[in-house]
Amino acid sequence: MSTAVDLHLHSTCSDGVLSPTALVELLAGSGIDLFALTDHDTVAGQAEAQAAAARLGLECVCGIELSARWLGRTVHIVGLGLDPAAPAVGAAVALRQGLRQARARAIAARLDRAGAPGSAALARLATHAAPTRTHFARALTELGAAPDVAAAFQRWLGRGKPAHVAAEWPELAATVAAIVAAGGCAVLAHPLRYPLSAGQRRTLAAAFRAAGGVAVEVVTGGAAPHQIETALGLALRSGLEGSVGSDCHDPALPWHRPGRLAKLPAAVVPVWKRWGPAKYRSLEA
Ligand code: AMP
Ligand code: MN
Ligand code: MN
Ligand code: MN
Repeated sequence: MSTAVDLHLHSTCSDGVLSPTALVELLAGSGIDLFALTDHDTVAGQAEAQAAAARLGLECVCGIELSARWLGRTVHIVGLGLDPAAPAVGAAVALRQGLRQARARAIAARLDRAGAPGSAALARLATHAAPTRTHFARALTELGAAPDVAAAFQRWLGRGKPAHVAAEWPELAATVAAIVAAGGCAVLAHPLRYPLSAGQRRTLAAAFRAAGGVAVEVVTGGAAPHQIETALGLALRSGLEGSVGSDCHDPALPWHRPGRLAKLPAAVVPVWKRWGPAKYRSLEA
């Protein structure tokens, strides 16, 4: 079953393949009414997304996906409804973009040492303010060092692989605080994608809520029904609202296709009640 809401999407401003305009056109053609563009550690695409949304009659909520650290692990926090011009956003973005650029140089050096074309890959992503491992994976593929993006993660960039570089992202609590200071609300992204036990996940959700977080992604792209049940249980037990987001980077990957998401279960309060007109609220009635 499809839903009219998608609050986790990427564009070419981070590691998506569509420009903000092309993404919004895809959303309009997929029956989405309310969306947030949530690029990694940048709000560079927000104005373009807003303009395309206004032209096509969609509701656009300003968004971002911030990388954060919790007990030494990387977690992703989606900020929704924030002011992209707020000083807290500027500071959060500047910090992470600096870390990303330094990490990109470290990844390139490790690739070179491991016999892969790291410097050549780095040259290809030099124009990106917030370079991600996805950019490296694509560059390595183009340079013939991997058959595709998945293989590049598997061979070089994934956890425990030769060019994996852990980043010292800002702490979870400071990340949530930055989103709140910018007038937004914080959503714990794809809770089942972290290598955590069920107990650790509950501890994470509790720490997130204690820091001022309000929702967890209950429906994410590619999630099986039992995973949605698990994420729903986490939201309900932790006193958090629910969000829905495809995490689409590339519409050619069908499991992340916007407009193909399951509906948010009625047991949880939808985070988008804040912005959606009454018609979105009634989706859950
Ligand atoms: P970064 O924030 O630079 O560490 O990059 C993380 C991004 O890499 C994620 O948002 C995904 O888009 C992508 N990614 C992580 N692991 C994989 C994987 N195994 N296959 C494909 N993409 C991945
Ligand atoms: Mn990504
Ligand atoms: Mn993520
Ligand atoms: Mn994402």
